[in-house]
Amino acid sequence: KLFAYAPAPESRAVVDIAPSYGLFVDGEFREAAAGKVFKTLAPASEEVLSEVAYGDADDVDAAVRAARGAFGAWSALPGAERAKYLFRIARIIQERSRELAVLETLDNGKPIRETRDADLPLVAAHFFYYAGWADKLAYAGCGPEPRPLGVAAQVIPWNFPLLMLAWKVAPALATGNTVVLKPAETTPLSALFFADICRQAGLPKGVVNIVTGDGATGAALVAHPDVNKVAFTGSTVVGKEIARTVAGTDKRLTLELGGKGANIVFEDAPLDQAVEGIVGGIFFNQGQVCCAGSRLLVQESVQEEVLDALKRRLSTLRVGDPLDKNTDVGAINSAEQLARITELAEAGEAEGAQRWSPPCELPGEGYWFAPTVFTGVSQAHRIAREEIFGPVLSVLTFRTPDEAVAKANNTPYGLSAGIWTEKGSRILKLADQLRAGVVWANTFNKFDPTSPFGGYKESGYGREGGRHGLEAYLEHA
Ligand code: NAD
Repeated sequence: KLFAYAPAPESRAVVDIAPSYGLFVDGEFREAAAGKVFKTLAPASEEVLSEVAYGDADDVDAAVRAARGAFGAWSALPGAERAKYLFRIARIIQERSRELAVLETLDNGKPIRETRDADLPLVAAHFFYYAGWADKLAYAGCGPEPRPLGVAAQVIPWNFPLLMLAWKVAPALATGNTVVLKPAETTPLSALFFADICRQAGLPKGVVNIVTGDGATGAALVAHPDVNKVAFTGSTVVGKEIARTVAGTDKRLTLELGGKGANIVFEDAPLDQAVEGIVGGIFFNQGQVCCAGSRLLVQESVQEEVLDALKRRLSTLRVGDPLDKNTDVGAINSAEQLARITELAEAGEAEGAQRWSPPCELPGEGYWFAPTVFTGVSQAHRIAREEIFGPVLSVLTFRTPDEAVAKANNTPYGLSAGIWTEKGSRILKLADQLRAGVVWANTFNKFDPTSPFGGYKESGYGREGGRHGLEAYLEHA
């Protein structure tokens, strides 16, 4: 036992999950037109949490019609009036954050410490932040009379279900658009609880609609002719498919796709701090983070020191029950994701990299993968090039800053990077040279609603967050 004092696990009883949920269309929960349903599981135990309506093209059409119907009145409201709804939603999220954190942890598998301390505070912060913009749009640098686009189709992934919803819904509503959102098939519950929060906040009917389902549901939504704007976060493969669907239409599109972020550690870095950043960079949310620092680029002269410290630190990570407040590493979100991580880790071994994991006992039920470090990785290895989206770190080395930049940029992605050094001039130079939408210096995985986020290259285009996030939902006059 590392600690004498162990806080009790978070209580499951704080969230009341119904045995079944409908779609949220025009302010009401309703069954899918064809009556189809699917199950959502707790990945840590494989227990069925609930049965959720499966939306098809007819349901998507009903939701888009509801959003269109609500658009006129919603967009005509003075910004200050729209802001009141967003502030109300933000406050209800804060009031219900314990319940939502437990719900998200159950449906996603991530540790309660993360949902409680990172996801939920950020979700509320995004609604507060964009509420503040709603009556200041004329000053947002978008022209004197910025206009909303209309109906926004938003498709999100499972890794930060409620936070990805907040990134998309809050700026869309602040700017006067209405929304049809399609959550991921493995994590539909928090979006449905959010629908309930919209009702609680008195949001006019049809302003927010939630259609649960899978890729086919998302494809129907993106292709719907009465949608004006498509915002997608997910894999690069699906992002490209959506870009093809949208091409040739007048729909606006933003894409937030995959990544293969590099954490670059120089010999003059504060090494203890860097090791913490490396651990947080790849093991936060089990590495299922688009901007994860999944490649460690360490300067050769400190390679041994950094790896020794890293292994010692990883040996203290607690893997297990996500509801346990001590847990650092939770469950993988689904059997499919676990299979993908396993396949890539096996490819790493087969291609000759050395695999290491700290001693840890994985639970018998559910989807688990031990924190893993690969050393002796070359740039040609699949684990250095492909997004693993799991708790797997690939370690490469470099000698000079130029070599570090060349290796960091040697990927089709361009979402994130981290620089660890005491030299301010080096930070500024590298930040400029790295083809990454976000560059952190002496920290990693830090988020804030005021900062724009998005990718270069195959990590997508457009920015979410900050003032830039508003522009994606406005017509430039
Ligand atoms: P995914 O692309 O498989 O699914 C994302 C969403 O798209 C889901 O809701 C899914 O149902 C839907 N979808 C699937 N096929 C579709 C289609 N043909 N048309 C429309 N919608 C469709 O991705 P995932 O496995 O859920 O998420 C992991 C991926 O998301 C990773 O690649 C990760 O890097 C990326 N991601 C990116 C960011 C970012 O901001 N850049 C953030 C989080 C996750």
